[in-house]
Amino acid sequence: MSKPRVYGLIGNPIKHSLSPLMHNAAFSHLKINAKYKLFPLGDKELKIFLSSLNKKNIRGLNITIPYKEKVLQLVDGYLSSAVSAIGAANTLTLDKKNNKPRLFNTDHLGFTRHLKELKLNPRKAAIIGAGGAARALCFALGKKKAQEVSIYDIDKFRSLSLMERFNQIFPATQFLAAESIAALKLEEKDLLINASSIGMKEEDPLLVDAGQLHPGLFVYDLIYNPAETKLFKLAKAHNIPCSNGLGMLLYQGVEALNLWISPKSAPVEVMRLALQKGAKKL
Ligand code: NAP
Repeated sequence: MSKPRVYGLIGNPIKHSLSPLMHNAAFSHLKINAKYKLFPLGDKELKIFLSSLNKKNIRGLNITIPYKEKVLQLVDGYLSSAVSAIGAANTLTLDKKNNKPRLFNTDHLGFTRHLKELKLNPRKAAIIGAGGAARALCFALGKKKAQEVSIYDIDKFRSLSLMERFNQIFPATQFLAAESIAALKLEEKDLLINASSIGMKEEDPLLVDAGQLHPGLFVYDLIYNPAETKLFKLAKAHNIPCSNGLGMLLYQGVEALNLWISPKSAPVEVMRLALQKGAKKL
């Protein structure tokens, strides 16, 4: 049997990632001779790693914190239009003809597919956090022609920079930078997304008061570990519809796998099951 093709995740820290579970389940279901591995990389190792993909038999990568933006400077190859607009990539493929790297962003597709599954079509959204994930959300909401997207980050420069960037790309959507959570005006919104890492740790504060929630609001926490953050629990306790980020994780993985194995298609339900099993053990 020939050597398995290698796929994997680069980032740091990544030891708790659920991606190997869902991708390896898909490879074995599809009988593809491939393995998905974790490649925790320090800042200084990244450049050398990216220049030796062929030697390592690597055919595709996912990219996560803190390299989604940096990878654009280090990879000399095709950038999808979404990567250029978002300014970050989470998926790398190698061109079948010339082995040159190609960068894509499937985070925005993952979010959009999960919204569709949840039957959500937000008109006015609020986002807490203005990092890499928030950029993909802004792109997705702009593409969906949402009316308004308000963004709050503790670093005002980051929310202002997202506001400017996406107002230029999507003139039909009004992107706003809010000075505080109260200024997000949740009472006017139909979707609140936590795209900060606040909620991952037990001691993290609750960013929103119960009084700011209302029945017309859907609360979407990008965090999936823990499965229920304080924000998620608050929404649940007040009968406000809510979701964690496992669905987005699934669909960004599905879209990445579709790029790697085309013309074959990712087995969504196999991957969902593998993720759900893995998430229970976290
Ligand atoms: P990131 O680049 O670090 O962005 C998070 C942003 O939130 C940073 O600008 C951060 O500022 C800011 N922030 C921190 N505390 C805040 C607060 N109290 N109020 C407002 N903003 C605050 O991280 P990311 O890559 O965007 O990821 C964000 C979260 O989404 C993580 O929990 C990640 O695991 C999750 N995520 C989930 C998926 C999925 O598929 N479900 C995909 C991508 C990301 P500082 O840097 O100054 O702290």
